[in-house]
Amino acid sequence: MKSDHSHDIGAKSWLASANDAGTPFPLQNLPFGVFRRAGTNEAFRGGVALGDQVIDLAALSEAGVFSGLAADAARACAQPALNAFFDMGKHAWRALRHALFALFGSGGPQDAAKRCLVPQASVEYGLPARIGDYTDFYTSIDHARNIVKLLRPDGAVSPNFQWMPVAYHGRVSSIGLSGQKVRRPCGQRMAAGAHVPDVGPCERLDYELELGIFIGVGNPQGERIPVASAEDHVFGLCLLNDWSARDIQAWESTPLGPFLAKSFATTLSPWIVTMDALAPYRTSWTRPAEDPQPLPYLSSAVLEESGALDIRLEVALETAMHRRDALPPTRLSRTSFRHQYWTLAQMVAHHTVAGCNLRSGDLLGSGTISGPSRDEAGALIELTQAGHAPIHLPTGETRAFLEDGDAVVMSGWCERPGYARIGFGENRAQVLPAKWD
Ligand code: MN
Repeated sequence: MKSDHSHDIGAKSWLASANDAGTPFPLQNLPFGVFRRAGTNEAFRGGVALGDQVIDLAALSEAGVFSGLAADAARACAQPALNAFFDMGKHAWRALRHALFALFGSGGPQDAAKRCLVPQASVEYGLPARIGDYTDFYTSIDHARNIVKLLRPDGAVSPNFQWMPVAYHGRVSSIGLSGQKVRRPCGQRMAAGAHVPDVGPCERLDYELELGIFIGVGNPQGERIPVASAEDHVFGLCLLNDWSARDIQAWESTPLGPFLAKSFATTLSPWIVTMDALAPYRTSWTRPAEDPQPLPYLSSAVLEESGALDIRLEVALETAMHRRDALPPTRLSRTSFRHQYWTLAQMVAHHTVAGCNLRSGDLLGSGTISGPSRDEAGALIELTQAGHAPIHLPTGETRAFLEDGDAVVMSGWCERPGYARIGFGENRAQVLPAKWD
């Protein structure tokens, strides 16, 4: 889609906090999530972030301020999961976005709209959808090259990487939200030079910086989604931490791929930034001329013109010492999703080419997002050269991999001259000690 009036940088809200320069949630963003007032037994329902408030879509639907498709869409959002809203498709998503933009934009506060605001500081979040299936991709060539250099110094990135977005099937039951505490996993490891594995707490716990991709509209089994219309099936994106136990992963992954090294936890940020909100930050997608060019089912003119998204991403680390000394988290890396070797549309088209049916609320992980330079790496294993070059923190500590008590803090935003700066908010989760013996 192209940008429209809802991306106008001059648009202001009557809600003052939505106009603050630092807010991730100005009127131009309007990301969707699921929430309730913390510490209550209220039902979870859909909400939209605006400034420091949540627009309660159940209350808004009840108030009856919208009509037509926007009213139907708001009603679908009154449920504890957004699957039914996702399934309504892009016209309904856009109708609700435009209705919210009008109601909270110019024209001044309306009492009915004011009564639907709940302070973000007072809420707790739920998973935005009932996630049926979760697929994690492997689509950053810089990540792939870094990993191969570390793990197989004489090897090369596997030949299929440049021909398809590679993926494996992930685990849904252990998906949680920002704020969660993640127990250090235990499992089998084969020490260097050993011939027999041992079992115990992971000693090489890592994160992976990724985007979570929520499927809006699925496809019937046996019918593939063409790459040119693939993004019509995507509702929006959040920040995803694909926790990884590197020692467990190295020993278990041949020949079928990661299992226990990944299935113990995945953390999502609570707000889904819609593809509509991301329209102004699109950029051209190119494949180096010397590389294999995508097969026709992974190629389209639209893709080359605007298939990539310039989403800026950052990972920071907060140790127990940071908290004790009231220091801000230390930034470990910063990159952009625009470097990714495969796009969202190609992931969706490839996922369905064999006939697999995607469903509303399914989650895809973009794959680790690492950029071309060393400080753009989206995982500790790359930043620390598999632990050989530990990171020095301002607390005086060093880190090769994550220690108990460490919190990983991911953030993301988009900016472009002439357009508003919109954010994803935060994805924060902390490591708990293993339970063993
Ligand atoms: Mn991953």
